[in-house]
Amino acid sequence: MTGLMAEHTGQDQHFRHQHLFGIEQLSVSDILLVLNTARSFRDISARAIKKVPTLRGKTVVNLFFEPSTRTRLSFEIAAKRMSADTFNISSAGSSAVKGETLIDTAKNIQAMKPDVVILRHSSSGAPYLLARNIEAAVINAGDGAHEHPSQGLLDMMTVLDHKGRLDGLKIAIIGDIAHSRVARSDILGFVRMGSEVFLAGPQTFIPPEVSRLGATVCGSVAEAVRDADVVMTLRIQLERQNDPLIPSLREYAKFYGINRKVLELAREDAIVMHPGPVNRGVELSPDVADGSRSVILDQVTNGVAVRMALLYLILGGSKGNEGQGDR
Ligand code: ASP
Repeated sequence: MTGLMAEHTGQDQHFRHQHLFGIEQLSVSDILLVLNTARSFRDISARAIKKVPTLRGKTVVNLFFEPSTRTRLSFEIAAKRMSADTFNISSAGSSAVKGETLIDTAKNIQAMKPDVVILRHSSSGAPYLLARNIEAAVINAGDGAHEHPSQGLLDMMTVLDHKGRLDGLKIAIIGDIAHSRVARSDILGFVRMGSEVFLAGPQTFIPPEVSRLGATVCGSVAEAVRDADVVMTLRIQLERQNDPLIPSLREYAKFYGINRKVLELAREDAIVMHPGPVNRGVELSPDVADGSRSVILDQVTNGVAVRMALLYLILGGSKGNEGQGDR
């Protein structure tokens, strides 16, 4: 353990937050507390009987208004491995398609007394609105282009596993930074933990204000990837773009796709990450996505552990969930 991490072990602390809206609200100690707790939960998933009674009697509602494979399943598996009761509502099967507002949906869900609602929504800020209208804890599972905090945490956990530290690392994030909630959560998290974050992508994908988050914008992919410890690629978020912002996917792949040749610029032991879903041949060549440096499936495995930790810390890790705001 080095520098920052030695100063803040995150041990013997309580998670001070009733809700998880974003990495922005988390201190170094909060992040380490989640990561340490997640580590201690990880072996439960490797056991023959993958269940502990920790959250017995708690009710977890997955409220997903946007498509999801990994995040929804991962929260559900995490809750079930801790013996909570889980219920899934997706936009297609909910009354949202009949015109019900998020606030009305929230009030009706609250009337059924859940302990936590995990929300994915296309509008940035939707989890704040939900939390103001519900007594249950709210966990943001991705709100528009704003944040995806559990992804940020599982990404930090994966890098920590492979590199043994976060401070002083060079993290390259390539692609659609402007529309990616993963990019925002990762930039906030890695910068807070002392990593240096370098960004590259088409100009239309790099918001000018992003350097305020502490990341460095590079003029080329080569500049970002050179000597990087971590190369993270992002899917182009076509669902958040009204007009096409790049000429074609083929051209994007040629100039911004990560293939074996580009990866040679990174450190020899660099790892390759992607939050999924991967568009093979666009942001990542298939041989890199499946290659020995890819830790994409480790990210998925760690996703369950991080979400178990979040549910534990928010629901079971401290007494009572009464009241709003930070505790
Ligand atoms: N699964 C991630 C998200 O929901 C990344 C992506 O969809 O590209 O933001």
